[in-house]
Order: sequence, then structure tokens, then C-alpha cells
Amino acid sequence: MSPTRGKRPAESADRETGGLGRYRAKRDFAKTPEPSGGRSESGGPGGEGGVYVVQKHHAGHLHYDLRLESGGVLKSWAVPKGPSLDPAEKRLAVEVEDHPLDYAGFEGSIPEGEYGAGSVIVWDRGTYRPQGGASLEEMLEKGAVKVELAGEKLRGGFAIVRTRFGGKKTNWLLIKEKDGHARPGSDVTAEAPRSVLSGREVDDPGLR
Ligand code: MN
Repeated sequence: MSPTRGKRPAESADRETGGLGRYRAKRDFAKTPEPSGGRSESGGPGGEGGVYVVQKHHAGHLHYDLRLESGGVLKSWAVPKGPSLDPAEKRLAVEVEDHPLDYAGFEGSIPEGEYGAGSVIVWDRGTYRPQGGASLEEMLEKGAVKVELAGEKLRGGFAIVRTRFGGKKTNWLLIKEKDGHARPGSDVTAEAPRSVLSGREVDDPGLR
């Protein structure tokens, strides 16, 4: 989740600027093993998609972080209940700060006292493509994102739709589209809880 959400007056300006300023301001890279984003790239042309990752993060509360590459960074949402392959499930996804591209490979333990303290595993990873002819940037601006995910656990069409629920512009809903990859009644976070990189669970010793 995003403990500092709403506390910063510069939030909307930061959002317009994009980039990694907010990410870096929250973290002390002498203390956290998370990447500082020094390797971030300029980003390819819009509309082509790129890296997709979901990280499972046991901070104060267990949640999942959905990230999609765009403009040289990872656009990010915290999903408290995690994603679902059941099109009937609408999962709250709270927009958070952009993350560096190399965050997509990060697993480890963020020390006590640091932002997001707790353990992180790469729960799912792959690529995505924007659907419907618009770039991800254009769809984010409109508040209606449609992507095709090609991960190990999540595949097929997903919608990420901005909602005015709670009066917050940062609240979106993550919804599986009805297609051949939909699995009504399933619970993918329970069925496949482990890291796709290491096979570890988020609370395994050594991570936390
Ligand atoms: Mn998180």
C-alpha cells in the first residue's frame, strides 16, 4: 500500500512529471536493497508494451504490486487482495509511485524502519501489450486501460479502470476480461503462491 498517499501536496505535480523522483524520495538506498533506478532506460516507443510483473509484498499488510513498463519506468498499483482470473472479481488497485525498470527482478527484504519494510517476491512476470490501438500512456490518461498479459500465472486480457470510489483519483479496479484464459471461481493467489523466479514464498526464512 502507500502510507504516504495523500500527505504530499506535490502529488499531482509529481504524477504529471512522472519519473522516479517520488520513488527515490521515499527510500534510503544505503539501507534498502531495492534498486535505485540508476539503470533506467529512456523507454521505447509507446503502444508496444513491455515488461509486466506482479510482486507479492508482505509489508504491514500482505499485498500485491502490479507493474507495467511505460516510458522507461514501471507504472505501479498496489492490489490489496491480489489479481484474479475470475472476471466476476473486481480488485481494488491503488496507484502508487513509478518504479525503476530493474525493480521487476527485485526479491528481498526491506529493513525495518525503511519505506515498505518487509519481504518481496516476484509472484508473476512476463510481458504485456496494450489493446485497442492506444498506448498505455493514452489509456492511463483516460482512466481505462486494456492490456494482454503474457505472464506465467496471469494471461489474457485485463482491464484496469479508474474509479471515483472514495473520491480518490488513485483508485482503480483490476478486472480479468472474459476470454480463453479466464477461470471463473478460481483463486490464483492461493493456488500459486510462490515466486516464479526462486520458488520461495514471501515469508520464507532469509527473505524476512
Ligand atoms: Mn508494495
